[in-house]
Amino acid sequence: MNKFEEIQGVINNMQAVFASEEVALDKAFNRVLREDILADMDMPPFHKSAMDGYACHRDDINNELEVLGVIQAGMVSSKKVGKNQCVKIMTGAAVPDGCDCVFKVEDSEKISENRVCCLNPKTFHNICFRGEDYQKGELLIKSGTIINTPQMAVLSGAGYAGVQVSRRPKITVISTGTELVHPSETPKPGQIRNSNTNQLVTQLYKMNLEVIDTLLLADDYENLKIHFLESLEKSDIVIFTGGASVGDFDFIPELLKELGFQIFWDRTGIKPGNPMTFSQKGMKYVLGLSGNPVSSLAQFEFIAKPVIYKLLGANFRPLRILSTINFDYHRKNADRLAIVPVIINEEGTVDEISFHGSAHINALVSANALLEVPTEINHLEKGTPVHVRPL
Ligand code: AMP
Ligand code: MG
Repeated sequence: MNKFEEIQGVINNMQAVFASEEVALDKAFNRVLREDILADMDMPPFHKSAMDGYACHRDDINNELEVLGVIQAGMVSSKKVGKNQCVKIMTGAAVPDGCDCVFKVEDSEKISENRVCCLNPKTFHNICFRGEDYQKGELLIKSGTIINTPQMAVLSGAGYAGVQVSRRPKITVISTGTELVHPSETPKPGQIRNSNTNQLVTQLYKMNLEVIDTLLLADDYENLKIHFLESLEKSDIVIFTGGASVGDFDFIPELLKELGFQIFWDRTGIKPGNPMTFSQKGMKYVLGLSGNPVSSLAQFEFIAKPVIYKLLGANFRPLRILSTINFDYHRKNADRLAIVPVIINEEGTVDEISFHGSAHINALVSANALLEVPTEINHLEKGTPVHVRPL
C-alpha cells in the first residue's frame, strides 16, 4: 500500500466529531445532514395527471366522450366519470376515481361545446400513480449526505421546516513565511504576496464552512507558538500553510510535537505536496499544509477536504471521472501519486496544459480538473484511460 492509500485508510476510519444542530431548511444548503429523512406520505399522494388533457376510461378511448367539467390542479372532483364520459384535467390535478387514462389536449378534437374524442387511441395513460415515486416511511435521504439542491427539494416535499446538520467548526487559517506580504502590498526584494490564505478560505467557503480568523505570520518559532495557542483557544480546526517541511525555518511539525499533538502523518505520497501534517490534541485538529500554492491546493482537494468532511460526519466521495488522455505523459520518478492540472475538453477527453510544478498556480486558472497519475506509472501514452477529478 502506498502512502496516499494508507492515509485514505486512516481518513475512512475517522468518526464524526462535531455535534449536530437544527437549522431552518433555507439555511441548510451545503451543510452535512445528520438525520435520516423519511417520507411522511406517499409521493405522489394521489393519482396525478401528468398532462393537460382528458381523463376517461381506457375502454372508451375510441368513442366520442361527454365532458363533465374541468379539474384544476389543487382540486378534487366529486364527479363520477361514467361510460363514454370524461373530465378535462390539468397537469397535477387528482385523476377521478375509476379513470385509468388521460389523453393529451394535443391528441384531442373538440366535437361540440361538451363533446371530445381522442385522436391517439394508443396514448400513454399519462397518470403518475399514488406512491410511484416513494412510499410513506421510505428512507429518502441518508444521514451524512451533503445537502445539495435536489435534497433541498426533497426535504421540502417531505415537510421539513428545519433539519439536523453538523455544527460548523470554527476554523483559523494561518499562512506562515517571513517572505510573505499581504496581497495589497508591493513585495520588496525577496518577498512574495501571500496567495494561500485566499485560496484556502475560498476552498472552505465552497464547503460552506466558517473561517473565524486568518493570520499571516513570519517564521519565528516563539511568535508562531503564541499565535497558534491563541488560535487554538477559539478554533476547532487550525490550517497552516508553509513551514511543513524540513527547512531550517519549517517549524510547524516541531511546534505540534512540542505542544503534544498526535501527528497522524507528515507525508502524503502525492506530488506536488508531499510534506503535510494532520494532527489532533483533544478536540483540536490541525492541518499543516505546504506553502507552495499548487501543493496546498492539491493537499486540500485530496486530503484536507475529505478529512474535514469526515469530522463533520459526511459521506463524501470526490467525483472521479474515467476519461482518456490526449497527450503522452512522462515522468522520471514515479514514487508518488502525481496530480497534474488538465482540461477536460468538450469531447470529455483530457488535454494538456503547460504546468511547471508546485509553485505554478496560474496554470490552474485555465484547468478544470486534476489528473491522477498513480504511483509506479512513469508513462501514459496518448489514448490511455485515466482518472480525473473536476475542480
Ligand atoms: P514552505 O512550504 O514554507 O517551504 O514554502 C514553499 C514555497 O511556497 C516557498 O517558495 C514560499 O515562498 C511559497 N509560499 C509559502 N507560503 C505561501 C503563501 N501563503 N502564498 C504564496 N506562496 C507561498
Ligand atoms: Mg516557508
